[in-house]
This record gives sequence, structure tokens and C-alpha cells, in this order.
Amino acid sequence: MAKLFGTNGVRGEVGQGMTAELALRLGMAVGTWLKPGDRVAVGRDARDSGPHLQAAFSSGLNATGVHTVDVGVLASPGIQLYVRDKRFAAGGIITASHNPAVYNGIKLVAPDGTETSQDEEAAVEAVYASGKFRLAVWDTVGKHAVDTGAAQHYLEAVLKQVDVRAIRNARLKVVLDPGGGAGCVTAPSLMNTLGVQVVPLSCTLDGAFRDRPSEPSQENAKRAMEAVRKSGAHLGILQDGDADRAIFVDEKGQFVWGDASLSLAILHELPRHTAGGKVPVVCTAVSSSSCVADAVKMAGGRLEWTVVGSPVVAREMLRHNAVFGGEDNGGLMFTRHQVCRDGLMAMAFMLELLAKTGKPFSELVAQVPRYALVKDKIHVPEARKQAILASLKPLIAKEAGVKSVDDRDGLKAYLANGWVLIRPSGTEPIYRIQAEAATPAAATAIIARFKPILERAAAH
Ligand code: MG
Repeated sequence: MAKLFGTNGVRGEVGQGMTAELALRLGMAVGTWLKPGDRVAVGRDARDSGPHLQAAFSSGLNATGVHTVDVGVLASPGIQLYVRDKRFAAGGIITASHNPAVYNGIKLVAPDGTETSQDEEAAVEAVYASGKFRLAVWDTVGKHAVDTGAAQHYLEAVLKQVDVRAIRNARLKVVLDPGGGAGCVTAPSLMNTLGVQVVPLSCTLDGAFRDRPSEPSQENAKRAMEAVRKSGAHLGILQDGDADRAIFVDEKGQFVWGDASLSLAILHELPRHTAGGKVPVVCTAVSSSSCVADAVKMAGGRLEWTVVGSPVVAREMLRHNAVFGGEDNGGLMFTRHQVCRDGLMAMAFMLELLAKTGKPFSELVAQVPRYALVKDKIHVPEARKQAILASLKPLIAKEAGVKSVDDRDGLKAYLANGWVLIRPSGTEPIYRIQAEAATPAAATAIIARFKPILERAAAH
């Protein structure tokens, strides 16, 4: 059987890989893995395919004697917070995050609100594959309830993390573009409560993402960039489909890359945690820019690199007792709030930063250094991925100018003027190669030097 869980839960095309039958069986598998009488909170993003998959998944749980609470359409971090604070045994999120509307998926949440670990997913998958489900009899079938208060709970939790009065007094103006995704449920309310004047773009739930694709990429942000320039807003904010990420546009209408906003958050979050000479820990994936390392250093913290993928970053944050973590795609994790990517928390933090510093966003972003990143890839047979990695390792290590190699996820070689990261894709038959240096020309030169080495290793 093909592996069910990928990097971010179970995902597939609706009616093809992702069906009501799969959702039902996965619900029964999760229910069998849990105990009879356990409670599971289940919610979804805005996709049109969400309701029937959620109903099937919840039905599977109920069939095994597990109770479910439907929290409706809500940002993934809102569902995760609800699972943690209301002490559920687990959570289920029907979402395909930033993927197009033809996709949907199911993500599992642990009792502490983090995404379930690979070990837990493997345990559920084993039950799923066995087909041996613990079905309840008539009087032990799980009950299904609805709670319409989860969004408010989430909103209030985020508001507790920022200086509401300071933000209100700053009288900020923001272009808000949740892209018709789950962010529509809470982001406009947050702006309203914070006294922020909103120029709304796609603030109405749209299960087909008709206005723009749900990935908050530079290309998909053009409309928001234009709106910022026209309206004279202080900030533009975009979210992905399940609103666990937030991407920003500065007051000049310039796209702010995720690694820059990640570094900016580190620079201003860490001083909250340095009292008594403490050295706060930050976690980020090996694929993140060196500007993240620079920001951690500038703020007096210590950086722990991790394997790529937000569930792993979150687990490593817990292991290292980190105060902050994140990815370069707009996923920021504030431990004081919750250890998962949270788009609403990220935007509240940036609004507070604007209010308290009184500085334009472009000036704040300029506080952290910028590097040039160049990406490339080569196609490889799926079956040879690991063998290529093994043969590549000694070649990279002995290459002139390589100072050290980090092999926790692919191979990251540190050079005098930057670094190169070569790693197999988790979902496609390709190897990715990315290089970072001070200038695009220098980064391109690194790729030009290391790509042939990768190609040679792949050709054997
Ligand atoms: Mg997402």
C-alpha cells in the first residue's frame, strides 16, 4: 500500500486520491487508535469539498465510539488551539492548505495542539491498512456536537498576545487579502477589534479560490501590492488557504519575502525572552536563509537548524525549549501563544511592531540583511534517491572550499561566501539544489559548480 501520510497529513485530488470513503476509513482508523469515549475536534478550511469529507471523517470516528465536535470553517491554528485549550484527545483538520481547490486533505492534531508526529501517523496508518476497526454497538456509538465558539476563542487568544491599545492608537490602514480562505473567518474581526482600517480583498469565503490561487506567492500578491500603493496603506497582508501562514507587503507595495518577515519577527520577539541573561533558542529548517541566523545572532539568541517541514520544526522547538520557530514561507511559531504556524498571530505581531516603533514596514524589514537565493532541480528515478545521497556525500565533503556539511536533511555545504543545499523532494522524483550568497551572480556560480556534481552522482 502506498504511504497514506505525506509531509502535511493525507492529501489528494477530490474524488480521486481523496474520497469520502478514504475519509470514513481514516476516521475509523483514528477512532480505533484512540479510546472509546475520547473526544476529537474536527474543522475545515473553506473548500467546497470540505463538508462531505468532514462528515465522512467524523462519521468514522463516531462509528468507533469516539465523540466529535464540529468547529466549522476555521484557520488550522484556530482548530489546533481549540484542541489544546479544550483538552481534546485529538483534532482533525480537513484542508489542503495552499493547494488548488481540486485538492483536499486531512491533518491530525495531537492533544498539545501540534501536528501529530510521524510515529503517531504510522500507528494510525497501520490500523488503516489492517482494516480492523473497533466498531461500537448501538449504545456506545460516538456523539456528534457543534461548537460555534472556536473562532471567538482563537481571536481572544491572539488578542491577549499583543498590546491592543497601542495598535488601536496607531490608527493603521491595512490591505487584507485572505484569498477567500479560512482566514476570512477571523482576520477581518481581528482588524476590526484592533481599530485597523481595512481595504478588503477576497475577504469572503470562497471554496473555489476564484479571485487568486491560495498560495501567497509574489505572483499572487500583485493585486494586494497594487492596492497598497493606491490606498496608501501601512501594510498588506496575505494568507494561504488554511491561514496558518501570513505574507506581507510593505507600505511601498513591495513584496516582503517570508525569510525577511521571519527574521524581523525573531529580531523583535527575542528581546522578550532575554531577561536574566537568558539565551533564547530559535528553530528553523536547514533550507532557511542565513538572514535568519543573522537575526538570531543580532538578538542574542541561539539557532537550532532542523529538518524541513513545519511539524518537525514544531517538535524540535519543544525538544529545545525554543521560544520561537518558523519557516521561510510565512509560517511563524510563537511559543508563548502556541507551537504551530499561526497566520493571525503573525499579523497581530507585525501590527504591534508598526504601532510601537512608528516606523514604516520597509524600514523595519531593512534591519535584517538580505541574501540572494537561487534554486534549481534535476529529475531522478524515485528508487535511486537514497543511493544518490550516499554517493554524493563524500563528493561534496571533499569539494574545495567546503567548510562543513550538515546532513540532517539532504546535504547542506557551507562555503566561504554562502551555502548550497542539495536534497531529494519528499513528493516528486526530483532533487532540489539551492544556493545562497550575497549576490545573485555568486549564488548562480555556486549552483553552476555543484549541480554537475549532483548530476554525476545521479548518473551512476
Ligand atoms: Mg497552510
